[in-house]
Amino acid sequence: MQPLCLTGPTLKTNLHTHTTFSDGTFTLAQVVAAYEALEYDVLAITDHNRWQDHTSASTGRVLVLSSNEPSLAQREHLLALGVHQTSPVDAGERDRSSSRTQEVIDWINEQSGFSVLNHPAWSGMPVDRLLELERYHAIEVCNAGCTGHGSEFSLTHWDELLRRGRRVWGLATDDSHYDWDRGLGWVELFCERTEAAVIRALHEGRFYATMGPRFEHIECDGETLRLRCDPVMGIAVLSEQGPIKVVHGGFGTVDGLEWKLPDRGHRYVRVELHRADGKKAWSNPIWAD
Ligand SMILES: [Zn+2]
Repeated sequence: MQPLCLTGPTLKTNLHTHTTFSDGTFTLAQVVAAYEALEYDVLAITDHNRWQDHTSASTGRVLVLSSNEPSLAQREHLLALGVHQTSPVDAGERDRSSSRTQEVIDWINEQSGFSVLNHPAWSGMPVDRLLELERYHAIEVCNAGCTGHGSEFSLTHWDELLRRGRRVWGLATDDSHYDWDRGLGWVELFCERTEAAVIRALHEGRFYATMGPRFEHIECDGETLRLRCDPVMGIAVLSEQGPIKVVHGGFGTVDGLEWKLPDRGHRYVRVELHRADGKKAWSNPIWAD
């Protein structure tokens, strides 16, 4: 197991946000101000099939990332994070058939960007389709903007990808188009507040996804898993075999775990925090090799 230690201050980050530049309800300035009021540190503006350099909208607190959301047919939408130009399917080109999804993923990667497959559950994507596509870096395991659509979680997709040996990270995002959908799902990044550091931390998986509960410390030396977190109802450690360790607070709470990993050869472990109000957080997978 690769040694891992995530600790120290984090950047509260929403990686999926719309403005009036595509189908959002609020202007860029209104959206940045709203996220600043919610104490976010990093915001990716990801309008559909449009790219524009919004980085000058950054404030003293909020770093605005250069990004967009190439949106292809069959609801195959991607986040192109840290990309500084229009993608091949944007800006006037008409062919946005899903047969081009792989081409756009590869294009994002060639730009040294971070590529994400968005809201698989909302897109109705079979796991076979996610396995057919390659080289994307992450999927949205929680797209909070789909709350009320019955499709905000894509954990079954994620677990199946991980079980099949696919190394993809898990994001939570707002996919905000309105005001009610702000501050519902985000990632906490362990890095400095520059675009280069943010993109590097995303590539390295140095973050966790959350709807509220926070990890303070995630450490694994290959033998022992050590966690500290907000008080929660339960902590679950999952592998390709499902939950392999659960600490449940009953009517109380738990705020950490120190657990020697079993010798049975797990391909990976990942951790979930469960709060009594239903809010959850997800660590990234920690790989055995
Ligand atoms: Zn979107």
